[in-house]
Amino acid sequence: MEDWSAEGVRYLKGVGPKIAEKLLKLGIRNQRDLLFHLPLRYEDRTQITAIGSLQTGNRSLVQAEVLQAGTHFRRHGRSRRALVAKIADHSGLLTIRLFYFNARQQNQLQKGVWIRCFGEVRSAMGELEMVHPEIEVIDVDNPPPMTQTLTPIYPTTEGLHQLSIGKIIQQSIEKLHTQGMPETMPLRWLEKHHFPGFEVAMMHLHRPQNQNDSARIANRRHPAQYRFVVEELTAHRLALLERRAKIRVQKNPAIKTGGSKMETLKQSLPFELTGAQLRVVAELMQDFELGKPMMRLLQGDVGSGKTIVAALACIPVVESGYQCALMAPTEILAEQHFQNLERWFAPLDIKIVCLIGADKGKKRAQKLAAIASGEAQLVVGTHALFQASVNFSALGFIIIDEQHRFGVDQRLALQKKASQQEMPHQLIMTATPIPRTLAMSIYADLDYSQIDELPPGRKPVTTSIISEQKRAVLIDSVARTCSEGGQVYWVCTLIEESEALQFEAAEKTFEKLQQLLPHLSIAMVHGRMKTKDKEAAIQAFKNAETDILVATTVIEVGVDVPNASIMIIENPERLGLSQIHQLRGRVGRGARESFCILLVKNDLSAQVKKRLDIIRSHHDGFIIAQKDLELRGAGEVLGTRQTGEANFKIADLLRDQKWFAQVDELARLMLSDEHSSIRGELLRNWIGHKQGYTEVG
Ligand code: ADP
Ligand code: MG
Repeated sequence: MEDWSAEGVRYLKGVGPKIAEKLLKLGIRNQRDLLFHLPLRYEDRTQITAIGSLQTGNRSLVQAEVLQAGTHFRRHGRSRRALVAKIADHSGLLTIRLFYFNARQQNQLQKGVWIRCFGEVRSAMGELEMVHPEIEVIDVDNPPPMTQTLTPIYPTTEGLHQLSIGKIIQQSIEKLHTQGMPETMPLRWLEKHHFPGFEVAMMHLHRPQNQNDSARIANRRHPAQYRFVVEELTAHRLALLERRAKIRVQKNPAIKTGGSKMETLKQSLPFELTGAQLRVVAELMQDFELGKPMMRLLQGDVGSGKTIVAALACIPVVESGYQCALMAPTEILAEQHFQNLERWFAPLDIKIVCLIGADKGKKRAQKLAAIASGEAQLVVGTHALFQASVNFSALGFIIIDEQHRFGVDQRLALQKKASQQEMPHQLIMTATPIPRTLAMSIYADLDYSQIDELPPGRKPVTTSIISEQKRAVLIDSVARTCSEGGQVYWVCTLIEESEALQFEAAEKTFEKLQQLLPHLSIAMVHGRMKTKDKEAAIQAFKNAETDILVATTVIEVGVDVPNASIMIIENPERLGLSQIHQLRGRVGRGARESFCILLVKNDLSAQVKKRLDIIRSHHDGFIIAQKDLELRGAGEVLGTRQTGEANFKIADLLRDQKWFAQVDELARLMLSDEHSSIRGELLRNWIGHKQGYTEVG
């Protein structure tokens, strides 16, 4: 039975080199992957719908006679013909259109033949139609039996037809039927929770057996689905715990705390640390004192003061002779961290280097040399930090800022810059607040600290949604604020992360504002500018040399200008709520009363209005994140969709939170020696070859 993983897909019927490549794209390499390629949804072809009772928008099966068929030129584009047929049953008339068709299809669709076709019902110019339905010619006197169960629809990729992938998967299902596969849950556990056994559950999902099962599966309320949801979440939890256990036994840099420089820095700060900041610093120090590798997630709402906490944690590391690396997602942010850290650390005689992609030639060589020799005790930078040419002399502590912007592999790449013999300490920071239960599930390999208190004196930012039509009024009040010495951010967003389009939008706004407010100094930052120019623009804004900073979302993270008091966001509906909250966090940092203006078009849908209202009425990042999760799903909010960190086959972190307690219990049970062999099987089934997931480095 060990051949599930070993057997490549190439030996299956219908899989040539081209199809194998497409399967690989879907993450399918072997028979095991194939079996675990679960249906995305199901279609109901168990019943024939009379044409007279078809509903537009539904996907339905009809059985009818072809009244006429022929090819027509398409309305637009002369070169292409469409195959159009009118079909009818006793109850009505339906048009079928095929824009792409072959000779066989053309021959099949003859006047007088009977067909079954399945597709989405649309209404075009008062007529019902189906475009590209699946068509089967039948003998009406002796019709083929109806499908008894739901038809599974599998996730697929371009060039791999649903029917083809279905047939390929069918072969794995037959193999399961004849050869079986080991059970991956403790039997007692299955009984206790009334879950079906592995094979039965798997068959239910791929081939619902009867109407009753079908109905429950379609509603996602089948025990087979519950079983696999719990199983998949448990597998991920176990993988993370395994990773954590492996890390815990690694040798790690010994960090001696209690040196004098920490106190010196605290004394020199122009503010008092909040209670929450002090508590988190103490938690970090305790990790060092216990001599365990730090693997910690630090959460704190935007503006809660994570940077100084990270900086304080660097001091004992440096005092113990190790280097620290602080990685940020943008050059602007790296540069800002550098300025802060330099200001804090220069008096302590701690040497800092900032390394970004834009560093070239001699300057870059000098920085690399300082990092390699250990002269640079603290290195701040962007993705540039884990490039091949970067070598550390003794990297002991890694800090990742705005971690949701980085993938697991990027974190690992930086981690590999440490010596082979030692696992560096790691602090992972995020301002996207993740509800704790969720954090436990995706970051079960990390400890958790939270700054749950904002520095004193922060005033809530008044948020309003203003229609495009009131732009002129808005510009007046911007002018007034600037004349009183205030500063304004004006952020232009656009669909997709297309920097080019954002740039265009920003440019237009920039020119318009310059025309309307000629007496003010207006600058612009966007991702296409040279780093030097970007820095200069931000710096000028920080120094209050410019009144208005027009920007694309490059300023989203971290930029800190306390004097700025108005944040205007154009087309905010295109951003996630947490992202808007982040942007809003740029203001309300100084003495001025602050405003966040969401500038919207008139024709917003009720749903969008509801979303934006959440921002208007809430100031707590956690609540906003929770609502955002409910509206957009976990993958979007956590930014994990792209990085594949929480890419589940059947579970959904939000929908399935009700199973977390079971997952907890099962994961603990599975960790016992008694279950070590099924644990291995479970991980192979669900995690398999997912790269980096369990890798320690
Ligand atoms: P974030 O958690 O969003 O990264 P930052 O570390 O950028 O927040 O801090 C935001 C601003 O608050 C900075 O100007 C920082 O110097 C300031 N700050 C941090 N801690 C305190 C504090 N305890 N009291 C007053 N201001 C603080
Ligand atoms: Mg920050």
